[in-house]
Amino acid sequence: MAGVRSWPSTEQAMALPVLIAGAGPVGLTIALVLARAGVAVEVFERATEIAEDLRASTWHPPTLDMLDRIDPALTRRVIEAGLVARYTQYHDRREGLIAEFDMELLRGDTAHPYRIQCEQFKYTRFLVEALAGTGCATVHLGCSLAGLRQSADTVEIDVESPEGRVVRKGVFLVGADGVRSAVRQAAGIEFEGFTFPERFYTISTEFDFAQHFERLSLVNYVSDPDEWCVLLKVPGLWRVLFPTPADEPDEAVVSDAATERRLQGVVARAVPYETRHRTIYRVHQRVARRYHAGRVALAGDAAHVNNPIGGMGMNGGLHDGVSLARRLIRIVRGEAPQPLLEHYERERRPIAIEYINANTGRNKKLMEERDPAVRRQSQGEMRRMADDPVLARDYLMRTSMITALRAAEALAGADA
Ligand SMILES: Cc1cc2nc3c(=O)[nH]c(=O)nc-3n(C[C@H](O)[C@H](O)[C@H](O)COP(=O)(O)OP(=O)(O)OC[C@H]3O[C@@H](n4cnc5c(N)ncnc54)[C@H](O)[C@@H]3O)c2cc1C
Repeated sequence: MAGVRSWPSTEQAMALPVLIAGAGPVGLTIALVLARAGVAVEVFERATEIAEDLRASTWHPPTLDMLDRIDPALTRRVIEAGLVARYTQYHDRREGLIAEFDMELLRGDTAHPYRIQCEQFKYTRFLVEALAGTGCATVHLGCSLAGLRQSADTVEIDVESPEGRVVRKGVFLVGADGVRSAVRQAAGIEFEGFTFPERFYTISTEFDFAQHFERLSLVNYVSDPDEWCVLLKVPGLWRVLFPTPADEPDEAVVSDAATERRLQGVVARAVPYETRHRTIYRVHQRVARRYHAGRVALAGDAAHVNNPIGGMGMNGGLHDGVSLARRLIRIVRGEAPQPLLEHYERERRPIAIEYINANTGRNKKLMEERDPAVRRQSQGEMRRMADDPVLARDYLMRTSMITALRAAEALAGADA
């Protein structure tokens, strides 16, 4: 069209890569989607190796469906490296099993009617291998983003690398650099919300809790007014997540005595527990005020963080990442203008607030509720839902994030 400049110019788009800060699951997924479309991409990761990160383990059905459309071989690897969790159980520490939900009820809504329990570090390793085969992507380890500048057509970043400070230029910059995102801070974007006073303590052990319950699923939420916990299985290990008292120092939380006391409270046994990992996490409910500023966009934990009860952080981050990458491809190819980034924000930010943070916030309240009457009422509702296939399916649609992704698709509409 006369007088209309292709944005950015084709030469620029061909010459300059999309820059990504952070080689976590979200940054690397964005890199893969871009690289598979022939878009040059450079990823800068502060750590000197891809982290063996024990945070996310739950994969929800629509994330597996989404991944399948990008790379069926990658989805197969995640499934094969994990465990298929068909049931989710809700327990009360004093009363036992309250309700069980069977994800088979979602068979008409997803090709994957189950959760996969696979650690996020396995996925990031698979992604690095997949990226190597694209010929379009470079992952720079030990390289930390330290500053950024934007012009009308480009973004320039300062990178602290093992060789000293270097400057790289790109056509866009994606901040997938986690909760303390340097990109978000350099772009001056506020991270609205709060941080819980208590932290979460996760312990992993080879001890097989399933042998000591009549019926235990691979994903279990155990409520208690004093010490609730989440019991999750990953291959070869059980992970137990507890809240910590706000004022307990970290050394006291991870001490042998305190760790033993907590695990003995789940299953009492004569011999002490052996543990493989003990990690404390700060927990937040925050959403960035903007998801983009000029040529800079945020995704994953850089854009929103939530408590991990329900396993929605990484899943939601991957939903962001795929939506953003698809938009960037169209812009870089000159098929769509930059306002597509506005549309990305309009699609994904409400989902973080109204679905991800709202659901995980409710999950935490359900686990820790102290008022006996409220506990009885919520447990009664949980039982009623689990016993009625229609209500149970509705519940699973929400907790498996299918509802959130359908809402995002509706928000994206013609912009997608
Ligand atoms: C205990 C726990 C359990 C969880 N379980 C689940 C679950 O089951 N399911 C789920 O969906 N979510 C879960 N989550 C949340 C999930 O772990 C995060 O949402 C996910 O890791 C976000 O991925 P990301 O790629 O956005 O960020 P990250 O995984 O944090 O990756 C960011 C990367 O950026 C790098 N980086 C940081 N600063 C810079 C810089 N300046 N320059 C370059 N690189 C930088 C970091 O080193 C890191 O590698 C859990 C979280 C916790 C704490």
